[in-house]
Amino acid sequence: MPDDARRSIPSLDRLLQASEARSLLESYPRHLVVDALRATLAEARAGTNGGLALLSDEHLVAQANDRLGSQMRPSLRPVINATGVILHTNLGRAPLSRAARQAMEAVAAGYSNLEYDLEAGERGSRHEHLTPLLQRLTGAEASLIVNNNASAVLLALAALAEMREVIISRSQLVEIGGGFRIPDVLRQSGTHLVEVGTTNRTYIGDYASAITDETRLLLRVHASNFQITGFVHETSLLEMVELAGTRGLRVVDDLGSGSLLATERYGLAHEPMVQECIGDGADLVCFSGDKLLGGPQAGIIVGKAAAVATLRSHPLTRAFRPDKTTLATLHATLTHYERQEADREIPVWRMIAETVGALEVRAAAILRAAPFDWLTVLPTAATVGGGSLPGETLPSYGLAIAPPPQTVQEIAARFRAGDPPIVARIADDRVVLDLRTVAPEEDASVIAALRGLGAQPGGIGRVP
Ligand SMILES: *Cc1c(COP(=O)(O)O)cnc(C)c1O
Repeated sequence: MPDDARRSIPSLDRLLQASEARSLLESYPRHLVVDALRATLAEARAGTNGGLALLSDEHLVAQANDRLGSQMRPSLRPVINATGVILHTNLGRAPLSRAARQAMEAVAAGYSNLEYDLEAGERGSRHEHLTPLLQRLTGAEASLIVNNNASAVLLALAALAEMREVIISRSQLVEIGGGFRIPDVLRQSGTHLVEVGTTNRTYIGDYASAITDETRLLLRVHASNFQITGFVHETSLLEMVELAGTRGLRVVDDLGSGSLLATERYGLAHEPMVQECIGDGADLVCFSGDKLLGGPQAGIIVGKAAAVATLRSHPLTRAFRPDKTTLATLHATLTHYERQEADREIPVWRMIAETVGALEVRAAAILRAAPFDWLTVLPTAATVGGGSLPGETLPSYGLAIAPPPQTVQEIAARFRAGDPPIVARIADDRVVLDLRTVAPEEDASVIAALRGLGAQPGGIGRVP
């Protein structure tokens, strides 16, 4: 930078006195404004803030304002999921229903009877709030809620297997995602893993011949995120329960997603239902709160009273105990099932149940509102995700952007940089916005983002 340009950069004190800085000082505490202006001036002196034209008081204050804006913005924020993956773990899995959000607000705003028995006027248990509802919905005698399903499985094994042997089929030694591997969890629980059968075939006789004096339980893990087809045999839960009954062992079933609704009613393969597994006689069934249930992150354990009581008295239960807002949102979510309104009120089920015709109508309306020649309506295939229904798709509709001169990566990055950020899918060298996972209320933001893409200088297409 030439010396005279550098000399024209104002001092911090002068900039603080400038009329342009006044609104900044009204919006933020003085020490934050000083820091932001100082950093902006340092950039200006180093010549890294985009050139001489940007050295006026007005521009410098605007840069400090942007800096403060991004500094104060929470890192965790809402995004629009246009990937077509309904239970997207990286995007926070299940959105909550309106009733669940209201229930969270109600208990978060003040005190609650979280661990207080209002009738007796004495200490109560946080674990009792959901038991009657879960009994009615699943047929289980007892229940326990923990922070997520990974901790549910760890707790079940630690409490019921007591450092002894757990038998599991080789076909179920799975990695769930994010490096969460069932064999590692077994090891953490202090239990000894006994693998039986082969990758593709495990018979009840394999379990029976592996039982020793050290065996405490039989574990079934739902193969939630992959499929084995062809020459395959899985031992049924019922067979495992019968065998365990004759040998004085327990059966724990890790369902992963677990559903309370019959997925086949929505054109999908059958996902194991919690009430079926309880009906088959599993001692404990564990599943996630934020997968197909459509509620908050939680691990839900239902099953026989004696097994649940053993879990409740284990020290890990204290380490894994859920927060009051989790219990409140879970109760509201489960109530939708009891009222038989789950596929209207729970966002995950509303997305699964949405007709493909309705999605096509929305896609056409978006195209009419942003009629660029690089934009088309496209039939797509959405997935449930979140470790459920691998290989299954739901017919869907989206908007496809076929982009020269920019690359699909550049366009996807522009969508992510928007406010709100939009996370798209890239397929066949196109950027696709799948509408099955976009709430109808978000269509206006999608239209605005598309118009922004078209209107920007150096944008990808003509303004209509
Ligand atoms: C997803 C999953 C888990 C872990 O559940 P989180 O709620 O994510 O902790 C455990 N087991 C199976 C089979 C799963 O699919």
